[in-house]
Amino acid sequence: MPGSVTAMSSQTPAAAVRIAVVGSINVDLVVRVDRRPAPGETVTGLGFDMFPGGKGANQAVAAARLGGSVRMVGRVGADAFAAVGLEQLAASGVATDGVVADGAHGTGIASIVVDAAGENSIVVVPGANGAWAEADVARAAAVASWAQVVALQLEVPFEVNVPVARAARQAGALVVLNPAPAPAGSLPAGLVADVDVLTPNAREAAVLAGIPDGDAESAARRLQAMGARSVVVTLGDQGALYLHEGAVGRVPAFPVRVVDTTAAGDAFNGALAVALARGSALPEAVRLGCAAGALAATRHGAQPSLPTAAEVRALLRSD
Ligand code: ADP
Repeated sequence: MPGSVTAMSSQTPAAAVRIAVVGSINVDLVVRVDRRPAPGETVTGLGFDMFPGGKGANQAVAAARLGGSVRMVGRVGADAFAAVGLEQLAASGVATDGVVADGAHGTGIASIVVDAAGENSIVVVPGANGAWAEADVARAAAVASWAQVVALQLEVPFEVNVPVARAARQAGALVVLNPAPAPAGSLPAGLVADVDVLTPNAREAAVLAGIPDGDAESAARRLQAMGARSVVVTLGDQGALYLHEGAVGRVPAFPVRVVDTTAAGDAFNGALAVALARGSALPEAVRLGCAAGALAATRHGAQPSLPTAAEVRALLRSD
């Protein structure tokens, strides 16, 4: 069965595997404060930092650090933030010829206020991430057809993901959809039908399955019944649960000293994509994902925390 997770059993050298990421490129604007201001109040901040982010860009960097040949398709503004959003992609060797600069919309930003207790308030302005033209979607579909694995998230409109997943599937690529952030409603049925591996975290799985208080396994079963071939629910410090070919499996979390879990999910998804493109079976790919997620949790930030192949190999060996 071309394009199925199980059919790809031969191991391809890491350098050769082709991953396409179609998704968001953001800049995180992070302000640190003692306490967040009340409505109408002004407080003096303790510091400000600007970081490249966006789930699409994070997952592209994650896959490239692990040895994948990665092409990113996305949209930024024709503004000063674009260079910040793209800097780690370029530094990690991700091909960005599929990234368009939009003169009418700004680069997507996340304005994040973090207080002394570590609580945050976040406003995301999608900007160019939310303004795909038909030509952009066609370009994304062409790049998806080049890839062995296509990684998608939900920070770009469904009008992008639906045709890209379809084109990828038709070209024989595996489609991994990380349904994050959880959408307000359900996923389009046509999208789920083209997904080989759906990778929600526990909260997203519960929301998408429509069982807010349900356990991860029940949610995974319901999501598979909706059409996804395989479902992997990431469970933070509990590792991950997968539902694959009718059987449930669990991968425990790697014990690490946790500093900041930002982008653990993106590390997981980037690693999963590389492993699947190499021909690993799903359980082995989930294990690689858990190792990458755990390592990302040991360091601050999003893209700076994403591990290299050597780091992941070392953690897998020590297990
Ligand atoms: P998200 O960041 O999308 O909410 P998770 O928090 O579930 O996703 O993290 C993704 C993966 O990263 C998990 O499946 C797990 O393997 C790993 N991970 C996350 N947090 C930890 C942690 N505290 N300790 C060890 N591994 C972790």
